[in-house]
Amino acid sequence: MLPVVALVGRPNVGKSTLFNVLTRSREALVADLPGVTRDRHYGVCRLGDAPFVLVDTGGLSGDEDGLDGLTARQVRLAIEEADVVVFLVDARDGLMAQDHAILGELRRTGKPMLLAVNKTDGLDEMVAMADFAALGFADSLPLAAAHSRGTDTLMQALKPLL
Ligand code: GDP
Ligand code: MG
Repeated sequence: MLPVVALVGRPNVGKSTLFNVLTRSREALVADLPGVTRDRHYGVCRLGDAPFVLVDTGGLSGDEDGLDGLTARQVRLAIEEADVVVFLVDARDGLMAQDHAILGELRRTGKPMLLAVNKTDGLDEMVAMADFAALGFADSLPLAAAHSRGTDTLMQALKPLL
């Protein structure tokens, strides 16, 4: 069974954008993936020779859900399926209460996690990243998913965790 990486974060932080960039630029096919539901929000990424499954968790939740329902589902999916979680936040919004809430749930799972700070385009990167220091990650990765920036570094950071 392939390792599973889940993209988790508040609505609108750029999970689907990142998913599309990572699956488009690599051999993306939703084929026979034992153990995971077949859904268009699953893609296969290739990290060197090692394929892994990428999950766009937000995409699996109905937009009609309230924030609490959405968050709960995302976190549950991460718990159930992911080997590694990429926790995505939005540099333009800055650190939000909802980020803390999601992270609290994620930390309880004990899964390996990466913090990726998206939408850093046009911002002072140092300032943008400093806003999220309070989350207590040793490392965090600046991203501009919409411009395919930072995605290679993210892939490299995933490597030792898979
Ligand atoms: P999701 O709800 O987390 O899946 O977020 P989406 O991927 O749907 O993106 C939400 C909005 O953020 C869209 O309007 C995207 O175009 C925008 N967005 C995503 N990535 C970036 C980025 O790197 N920079 C900027 N400026 N906007 C982005
Ligand atoms: Mg989405």
